[in-house]
Amino acid sequence: MLVFSWSVVILLLGSSSWAEIATIEEDTSRELSVNLHHPDLIGGDIAIKPEASRNADPCTSRGCLWQKWSDGKVYIPYYIANHYSSREVSIITRGLESFSSVSCIRFRPYQNGDHEWLSIESRNGCYSYVGRQGGGQTVSLSRQGCLYHGTVQHELLHALGFNHEQTRSDRDNHIKVYWENIIDGMAYNFDKIKTLNQGTPYDYNSVMQYEKYAFSKNNRPTMMPIPNSNVSFGQATQMSQNDIDRLNRLYNCCKYSAA
Ligand SMILES: [Zn+2]
Repeated sequence: MLVFSWSVVILLLGSSSWAEIATIEEDTSRELSVNLHHPDLIGGDIAIKPEASRNADPCTSRGCLWQKWSDGKVYIPYYIANHYSSREVSIITRGLESFSSVSCIRFRPYQNGDHEWLSIESRNGCYSYVGRQGGGQTVSLSRQGCLYHGTVQHELLHALGFNHEQTRSDRDNHIKVYWENIIDGMAYNFDKIKTLNQGTPYDYNSVMQYEKYAFSKNNRPTMMPIPNSNVSFGQATQMSQNDIDRLNRLYNCCKYSAA
């Protein structure tokens, strides 16, 4: 039996595209209910256990990589809650399987005896822990607003150990943050993290990059690309090649790794 002690109380609005997901994450954060017995959310959709540090990359401090097997593949068990429709399950499954053709990550159904797994559930919002937590860990894909291919990949990349693109250590060379436009109390979503960037460049088209109005309190941009402010960013509908490259480097997927 799958029992989970963590839950989050947040509200969510509907959405019709991945481009709007960042807005949803913004809305979920606004409605965040902080409770020490519940996971906190940082970056809008990243769940952390209360004892975890907010700024340090959780992967570097706690060793959150999933185990690699002798055949060179990383098998990650998942369980999909039974409250999804078949159409919704197919969207989730497509997202899970999209990693197989481009990396050594293999999501596979939960089996008796598995000690750690992803529990994919429709809770209130789209969110995930960053990296492996041990035991069953929730990946919330709400039936209201999270069932898009890019969103599924985004949350799975969190579970694999990745943070948002705009929190990268080298963010300030590529994105200017307009702190004065950010909703009061939400500035921590833009705190930089000592991320391992795996030698990949900052990528405006990463599926982990928020859009320019994320967490805006006044309909003005909270982020602008530098030096060219005309470059579009935060519009990805699926993993970029850089997302794939850094995943393969983090997990040392030799066959798929370009470097
Ligand atoms: Zn996220």
